[in-house]
Amino acid sequence: MRVVLKLGTSVLTAGSDRLHRPRLVELMRDISAVRAAGHEVVLVTSGAVLAGWEALGFPPRDRTLAEKQLLSAVGQSRLMHLYALVAELYGLDVAQILLTAADFRHRTRYLNARTTLDSCLRRGVLPIINENDAVATSEIRVGDNDTLSAFVANLAEADLLVILTDAPGLYTADPRTHPDATLIPVVERVTPDVWALAGGAGSHRGTGGMHTKIQAAEIATRAGTPVVVAPGDAPEALRRLVAGEALGTRFLENGTRLEARKRWILAEIAPGSVELDEGAARAVRERGGSLLPAGIHRVNGPFERGHTVRLLGPGGQEVARGLTRYPSSDLALIAGRHSRDIEAVLGFTHGPEAVHRDDLVRL
Ligand code: GLU
Repeated sequence: MRVVLKLGTSVLTAGSDRLHRPRLVELMRDISAVRAAGHEVVLVTSGAVLAGWEALGFPPRDRTLAEKQLLSAVGQSRLMHLYALVAELYGLDVAQILLTAADFRHRTRYLNARTTLDSCLRRGVLPIINENDAVATSEIRVGDNDTLSAFVANLAEADLLVILTDAPGLYTADPRTHPDATLIPVVERVTPDVWALAGGAGSHRGTGGMHTKIQAAEIATRAGTPVVVAPGDAPEALRRLVAGEALGTRFLENGTRLEARKRWILAEIAPGSVELDEGAARAVRERGGSLLPAGIHRVNGPFERGHTVRLLGPGGQEVARGLTRYPSSDLALIAGRHSRDIEAVLGFTHGPEAVHRDDLVRL
């Protein structure tokens, strides 16, 4: 199982005003146990601004954006330093990946981030992701790490997103004001009734609150990934959740990841197209097979790698739509050629398929 774990500031501080070192060790032990059981873990962490506060001595509250960016720029490297030290106790290497909203919007950057993430996981390195606060001003920020973790879950095509926080989960009412409130163990759909339970922001140290957690749950479950919001102080929370134990609130996925991906492909605007020969058109139309460069005889660009393109049959009719692994300029060079020649022609390869069958929707 591939799991994205999001740690909020309130979890990392364990109720104090500083990064709580023993808590970090506990969390890393949990991550290490889950990995040892054969699972992949991607970590999304907050705490950069807090670590900057620790270093410089002024709190982030009521600061200008520039001052907060300073805090995060100072804090991010200290945060990573701590993670690296703690991970070393368990023999783990860590990698830092800093993302902004633009990295999710821009297709090439998205694919590049995904490649780096995959390389980390293949090598057994623990990727640790945060928003690149130092360069992200309000228009280009994701804004909070709950939402960021949902984007990362999509990027990583995760099987589970675990958001650990300082609350036991989603309650029927705010437990601070309603002592009779009870925990909701399962949310089948994020409906307006669920949104109504969100209340305001949580603790003052992080950005989140239940609102951003429900937002994250909505984004991830819509793309086919279930989400659990669980208490960060529960021992071995990640190991237990990955093992299927009920803890916190579980938001059920909305259809499969593949279905979500196909819905998304159909919703894209596709100005570019490729024209297929008879054999390739039949293979795609009848069997939903991948499209190889050999089956393409004409490329109508321009389009980038990762863009949606229309796959046209010999009569010009659209047989399918899919995400291309090559930009139009490269595809034009390898069209009609055998996949084994791709590397010789281009000097590199993004794989044998022009459009992989998982990225293809038949019409
Ligand atoms: N990126 C921020 C930090 O590392 C946290 C944002 C959030 O808590 O949602 O401090």
